[in-house]
Order: sequence, then C-alpha cells, then structure tokens
Amino acid sequence: MSDNPEDICPRPSLAPPTKAEPLVPPLHLAAVYRCHDPAEADALMSGREPGYVYARDGHPGADVLAERCRELHAADRAAVCSSGMAALALVVLATLERGDHVVTSEMLYGRTLNLFTAELPRLGMTAGVVDPCDLEGVRRALAAQPTSLLVVETISNPLLRVVDLAALAKIARAAGASLLVDNTLAGPAICRPLGFGADWVVESLTKAMSGHSDVVLGLVCGRDANWSRVPTAMSTWGLTSSPMDCWLAMRGLGTYALRARQSMANAQTAATMLAGRGEVSRVSYPGLSDHADHALAARQFDGGFGSLVTFTLTGGRAAADRFIRAAKAIPFCPSLGDLSTTLSHPESTSHRGLAADERRRLGIDGGTIRLSLGIESSEAVLTALEEGLAAV
Ligand SMILES: *Cc1c(COP(=O)(O)O)cnc(C)c1O
Repeated sequence: MSDNPEDICPRPSLAPPTKAEPLVPPLHLAAVYRCHDPAEADALMSGREPGYVYARDGHPGADVLAERCRELHAADRAAVCSSGMAALALVVLATLERGDHVVTSEMLYGRTLNLFTAELPRLGMTAGVVDPCDLEGVRRALAAQPTSLLVVETISNPLLRVVDLAALAKIARAAGASLLVDNTLAGPAICRPLGFGADWVVESLTKAMSGHSDVVLGLVCGRDANWSRVPTAMSTWGLTSSPMDCWLAMRGLGTYALRARQSMANAQTAATMLAGRGEVSRVSYPGLSDHADHALAARQFDGGFGSLVTFTLTGGRAAADRFIRAAKAIPFCPSLGDLSTTLSHPESTSHRGLAADERRRLGIDGGTIRLSLGIESSEAVLTALEEGLAAV
C-alpha cells in the first residue's frame, strides 16, 4: 500500500493478514466480487463453479441462511429472498405461464390472496378460491379446470384452521397440480410440509424464524425436479435478499427452537386461561380440544400447536379498544413471531379490506384479537392479559 492518503480509497488487498477463523459467520456486504480472469468470470457466471460475482445473483449470507433452512425442512433446494411476498412471487414467476389456473385457499394471508386473485389475472392467469378444510370441495375445484398450482397455509390467520397436508398433496397430485404451502404460522419446529408431499414450501422469515422484528426476508424450499428456473427468476425479477438481513436472520435462527418451544407453551397457557373467562365468547387455538382441527393438528404437528391464539371479546369493538389500551405490556403490532407477546386486531388491520359480512363469515368481528405469544415467563403473559381483561 502507498503512504499517500489519496490511495487509501482504491481497494485491492484489504483482507486482514490472519488465518484465524471467526466463530460468527462473516458479514459480506459486497455488492460485487472480484474475478481473477475472464475464464473464472465465465465459470462463475455460468454456474459451472460455485462462487459469487454480483450480489443480486447470489451472496454468501443468503446461501448460508438458505442451507440452514434447507436442512430444517429436509428439502432438496432452498433459496432466501427479500420478503415472504417475494418468496411467493418467486414460485409464481419461476413456474407459471400465461393461461395457467391456480386454486387458492380462501383463508390466505391478505396480500397473498391479492397476489393470486388480483395480480395474476393481470398477467393472463386465472385463480379460483376454495375452503381448504373441505377436501371434497378442493377435489371438485381441481377437477373442474386443469390447475397448475394449489396454494394453502398450514395454519390460517386469524382463526388458526389447520389443513390436512397429506390429503391435499394427494388430491393435487391426482389432478396434476403442484401443492404450495405457506408454512409461516407453523414453522419447521412443528411442521415440514415437504414430508407430507408438498412440492413447494414458502415461509416469511420476517416472523418467528428471525424472531426479533428487525428483518424482512422470505424462504422458498422445493424439489430438484422443479428448481431449474428459480435462480434466474430470482435475479431477473430482482427478488434477492439483503446481506445484512440474512446475517441478522442467521443470528435469530440460532435460538429459533428454544423460542418456538417457549412461545408455544405460552400460547397453550394463554388459550386455556382465556377459554375460562366470561369476557371472552370464543377462543381459537389448535391446542385446545374443542378446536375444529385439534385431532388433525395433534397428528400432523410435531409436539406443538403454534404460538398464535385468537379470541373474541363478548363486548365487541368497544371492549377490544379498552383491552388494547389497558394491556400495556402487549404492544398492538400487526405482525407476529416477535420475542415479546404482541397483539393484532384483524378487523382494523389484516382483514380491513373485507366486507363486514365476509369477515363475519370467517368468524372475525370488532371484538376479535389475535395474540402472537412471545418468550416471556407464563406469569408475565397471564398478568398482561389480566390487565387487559380487567378494563373490558
Ligand atoms: C407475513 C406473512 C407473509 C408475508 O411475509 P413478508 O415477509 O411480510 O413479505 C406471508 N404469509 C404469511 C402467513 C405471513 O404471516
């Protein structure tokens, strides 16, 4: 190096002179990587040699994180993208064509439903909507029209209905459709949909997998046979993740199993307490024996029922307003999967786009509150809920 301060800027040979191995994965913020000669550039860009050239095509942070998630889902392939919605868009853009028909669950995350029923038709595709818990209805919908893709969520929001993945995979296969499962609300701690025959699994890593509400990322897992167009579609449509977010998500993932266990135990405790209260007309939690899908969930899930609990206050919207103001230890944050217990109000947030009678049909009214349980002590959770209920 030169001792001229003006020459500090140009960048060759900045690596520190050490062979020490950091315990923590390095953070590579680089947007571009140096090629040693044109032959190497050609080998890297064609994919003949593993490595990196331009971060939109791929970067080490995304690969390290994707590999961990691939293992968690026992998948052939995994890719991390810029959000959960980007992950869903990636499957669409890599696999569907103009003229294709998609059948989706009517209980999908709002933006997902929008993607399939409003955006896809703009691109020349069609979408039908079904109740994924009505297997006969799903079979009829797939028989009515050649279908490329069936889209469901393992656990729906906010009523936490659980779908029968093995049965849906069988129905999809018989009809020549692929099954895409959004597994965000279950997570790999309790459910690996590929093992039940799903072709694609998508998760929002923004939620419990990262777990600290400080990144936005998504995951796609799939099979070798379906994967060929995924890397090109990711780079061409610009769905690539940020290295900083991947690094933070890796750190969060290290405690994922512990957090999942504690938050699910808190969910069971909270659901049981709320189910015994007069201020509450209805509690939805798959871990309660009166939930419509309890037996299915017990069979399908691996030692847990998720960390969300939805309940409806007898006093309607006014009661919900009072509960939310009084439960000061439970922030009203319309997301889920944070370290701390949070709550959301579906009528005013996730389901505000629906007509009132449509919400009522789904079992949502102004008194409905959805909890996302965190990793506090169960005593802290119960105290926080009591504070809310006392004001109702
Ligand atoms: C949050 C969420 C998404 C979207 O993920 P983003 O990371 O916010 O883009 C998709 N599906 C479900 C079930 C979600 O909860």
